[in-house]
Amino acid sequence: MQNNTFESLSISKEILDSINKKGWKETTDIQKETIPFALNGKDILGQAKTGSGKTASFGIPAIEKCMENKSLQVLILTPTRELASQVHEELNWLKGKKNLTLAAFYGGVGIEPQIGQLESGLELLVGTPGRIIDLIRRGHIDTSEIKLFILDEADRMLDMGFFPDVEWIIQKLNPDRQTLLFSATFPQEILNLSSEFMKNPEHILTSELELEIPDIVQKFSKIGRINKSWALNNILFEFEFDGQVLVFCNTKRMVEMLEQRFSKVLDKRISSLQGDMSQNAREKVMTKFKSGEIDMLISTDVAARGLHVDGVNLVVNYDLPTQVDSYVHRIGRTGRMGNSGIAWSLVSFEEIAMVSMLKNVHGLDIKESEIPEINDKEKTHFSKKKDWNEHSDMFGMVSLGINIGHDDGMNHQKIFDWIKGLIRISDLAVGSIGVEGNRSIIDIHQSKVDYVLGAIAKNSDLGRIVDVEIL
Ligand code: ADP
Ligand code: MG
Repeated sequence: MQNNTFESLSISKEILDSINKKGWKETTDIQKETIPFALNGKDILGQAKTGSGKTASFGIPAIEKCMENKSLQVLILTPTRELASQVHEELNWLKGKKNLTLAAFYGGVGIEPQIGQLESGLELLVGTPGRIIDLIRRGHIDTSEIKLFILDEADRMLDMGFFPDVEWIIQKLNPDRQTLLFSATFPQEILNLSSEFMKNPEHILTSELELEIPDIVQKFSKIGRINKSWALNNILFEFEFDGQVLVFCNTKRMVEMLEQRFSKVLDKRISSLQGDMSQNAREKVMTKFKSGEIDMLISTDVAARGLHVDGVNLVVNYDLPTQVDSYVHRIGRTGRMGNSGIAWSLVSFEEIAMVSMLKNVHGLDIKESEIPEINDKEKTHFSKKKDWNEHSDMFGMVSLGINIGHDDGMNHQKIFDWIKGLIRISDLAVGSIGVEGNRSIIDIHQSKVDYVLGAIAKNSDLGRIVDVEIL
């Protein structure tokens, strides 16, 4: 208990006052472990799961390092505009009565006011790389006095998309500066890259190999694409809108379609967020979502990074992300700071391999769950269509059991020929065939299952109608 207090860290009275006022009682682990090193001037790689208070872990030292002299001393980079403004907000209340000016700069808004702010002087800047580069190029940001450089969501900042920009900025910085990297995950290539611009960093990794994920219930259901809306609807009613819902899709188009589709049938406040929206529109939606004026937000990964909304109790992956860290970030939007939460992924057959990877390679505890059935007509907004996808494996094959086997004089080749004799079907659509005494199991590609079932039902070549069972 004793050493989990903020008082035990040597931080200034102004910050302690703000923390007390905010009602924070104890440090989180990452805060307790990183703040002393950061205050001592060490470079740090800080890893902790989403929602564990990484912002204050770098925010408190950042504020402490600033002298009140209106020269730029701390630069924090974030991957998104939303995150920049959220970090700015948190640091702004943390600084309390300190006479410091902090700003968040990103693209999509006018550059002139930012130039104005820089001219009147500020000590700490949070921003996205593009706009910061712009301002450095135009000569408005003086990097010479920056003594602390921070990357939030470092794994993203150093991936191929952002790294060239980040590297450009790093080259403009004083080599003597201190560097802090914070992230929920540190893939090996990011660690390698970071060693190029960090000095002997302290690794504070709450878990080095395993992914740190929030303590929430993770479920997945195998469901074909055409039934995903049906599934989402049922999950929403099962959940009874007990809290806010965040739905993730992989494309802007899907986000828009879902918003339209569900706005028509549900009497709920539904909004969407995607990268094509103007900064202004995005901010409006985020503000409304945070204040609870939106029940369900449908988004691409734009909203998955670092944003914190207390009320989210359910995250649905309408599409499964293709990156592991993206999955962790998305589900981290729920169950934050000890709240309970559910993350439910709707997985079509092309996505099953990803689930296996999350489970087997990364050890995530994702349990297969049935989509809840709803018997109330009022709540049934989508009907469930027959979809062989749901019965298929990751290669799209569905296993059919038939009651003919060795006892009927069958073998592998004869079954194959029999199927090919029933209907026109490509060899590739017939997978493995297992023949036993009185039955056989044939794998058929899901696109052909209906034809095969139809053909078998009508056929009596073998002197009897063969029974089929879907396995
Ligand atoms: P992370 O960056 O690790 O995902 P955040 O810094 O966004 O997490 O923090 C998540 C939430 O927890 C925020 O609302 C933040 O204000 C709150 N928080 C951070 N540290 C503490 C603390 N020591 N006590 C209580 N709440 C905290
Ligand atoms: Mg964060």
